[in-house]
Amino acid sequence: MSSLIPPDMNRCQAEKPNGHTFMTLGGRPGRERCTDLPAWLATEKEPAPDGQIGSMSLCDDCRAVFLKQVGPEYAVLSRIERTEHDSARKEA
Ligand SMILES: [Zn+2]
Repeated sequence: MSSLIPPDMNRCQAEKPNGHTFMTLGGRPGRERCTDLPAWLATEKEPAPDGQIGSMSLCDDCRAVFLKQVGPEYAVLSRIERTEHDSARKEA
């Protein structure tokens, strides 16, 4: 049993090195979630063993890293259409 996490259109879903090392006080080595506004939606071309196709949102920078890491054949990348005030405006 599994359910896919829906793509987050307001925040890039990539994780990247957070810049801390083991010697950084208060820091935690590892990766942290990117905070950029995503511009791309990556959708896997092949379904996972459970038959579900994963997708995640990516900003421009993370898209470049993503393509370098997994190659262009792994996923379909589509532009996220948004207007200028898309993320700021909320319906009352
Ligand atoms: Zn990103």
